[in-house]
Amino acid sequence: MSLESIVALTKRRGFIFPGSEIYGGFAGTYDFGPLGVALRKNIVDLWTRSMQEHDNMAQLDSSIVTSGKVWEASGHVSGFSDPLVLCKACHTKHRADHVLEAIGVTADEKMSEKELNELFDEHRKNLTCPNCGKKDFGAVTAKNLLATTSLGMFEEGDTQSYLRGETAQGIYINFKNVLDTGFYSVPFGIAQVGKAFRNEISPRQFLFRKREFEQMEMQYFTPESEARADFAAWKEERMNYYLSLGINPDKLRFKQHENLVFYAKDACDIEYEYPFGWGELEGIHYRGNYDLTQHQQFSGVDLSVYNEETKERFLPHVVETSVGLDRTMLMILSDAYHEDEMGGDKRVVLKFNPKLAPIKAMVSPLLKNKPELVEKAREVRAALKKVHPVIAWDDNGNIGKRYRRQDEIGTPFCITIDFDTLGENPELLNTVTLRDRDTGTQERLTIAEVEEKIRQAVS
Ligand code: ATP
Repeated sequence: MSLESIVALTKRRGFIFPGSEIYGGFAGTYDFGPLGVALRKNIVDLWTRSMQEHDNMAQLDSSIVTSGKVWEASGHVSGFSDPLVLCKACHTKHRADHVLEAIGVTADEKMSEKELNELFDEHRKNLTCPNCGKKDFGAVTAKNLLATTSLGMFEEGDTQSYLRGETAQGIYINFKNVLDTGFYSVPFGIAQVGKAFRNEISPRQFLFRKREFEQMEMQYFTPESEARADFAAWKEERMNYYLSLGINPDKLRFKQHENLVFYAKDACDIEYEYPFGWGELEGIHYRGNYDLTQHQQFSGVDLSVYNEETKERFLPHVVETSVGLDRTMLMILSDAYHEDEMGGDKRVVLKFNPKLAPIKAMVSPLLKNKPELVEKAREVRAALKKVHPVIAWDDNGNIGKRYRRQDEIGTPFCITIDFDTLGENPELLNTVTLRDRDTGTQERLTIAEVEEKIRQAVS
């Protein structure tokens, strides 16, 4: 399966549209159509529910736009950059580390601009532009990824404001606020879902690298003595979470970070094998108490916590789990996408876990010009909508075409109302056919049985 086939299907059926398309597009942005919105909501709901399984988990929704001081304290203003290199032949921009990677050379994330230039120069004669294939690159420069905004800035000298580069900083700066509510005590976590912005040099690979994207992040505040065990537990929990969604285990793996940034105590990624190869899905990091230390120092506000036993104040350590909603969506689409044959016909099917499927079931009268069938089908749909609100209706074209359309958008069940439902065969009165998306098999069930089947599959 190619990335292009997923891009085409998701546009055709209303999951994902290129951003600003009628104006020729705007790189690194995508708009989500009716089914995309539904799929994203289901992903967020499941992630949130997995966090809520912890008794000591708070939720937060912090601002997208923040004072520049937040990002000075976090180190993003001075150190959040990617190495930019320009192709002098075709004038396209590229990430120098990606250009090096293409010939098997790994640039250490911690390298300075000078060191990167030395490495680049060492291999320069073998480095080709991914766009035009020429060997004519300029020098490597560090490009800061933070997106600035003029919101709230009126006069020269006003502090620069930024669109947040990650949601995590909003959590750190509200750590004390959440603690002071009196409902939480260390160890506890704060979970947040929201937009983040990065001036990525070359956004690419569809939803994988966008300039405006969404993160689902959790920071777990814990005493230093427990932090390593918590890190191990979160690693295991997050991998089990993906397995519980039914993601193919062969396409998931851990990648341990070898070269840690100076404050990090441990770090690993969960990677997924996307159609273009392995890539980071989620980062799990043990960050020491670097972030709280920085914000305490820059803001001058005491962020420490009192330990009743030792009678001392301390700054908790942090274990972070950070995953992109967009990368999760791409993983779920890639994992679900199948091309197979059914009844002698080729079909495309999205084999979504029913919990994630944007539409849970489709109800259809066998014939659309028989009012008695239509009326009964509407009655069945109304009953099923009480089990779950997203039950579709389709009476267009022949029944086979309706099934194929639903297969393409991953609807797990199709329910058809026919003359037997109305009692043509008295033994089958008030029964319907339920077709399974993955096998194509149909069974005759009562309406109550269908309700129960859907309830179990989606809850
Ligand atoms: P990469 O190395 O791929 O650029 P990163 O290590 O910078 O990613 P983090 O800063 O750890 O990523 O961000 C946490 C998560 O946010 C990532 O695991 C990813 O799922 C998501 N993410 C980061 N950058 C982007 C982006 N440009 N587009 C979409 N999702 C992103």
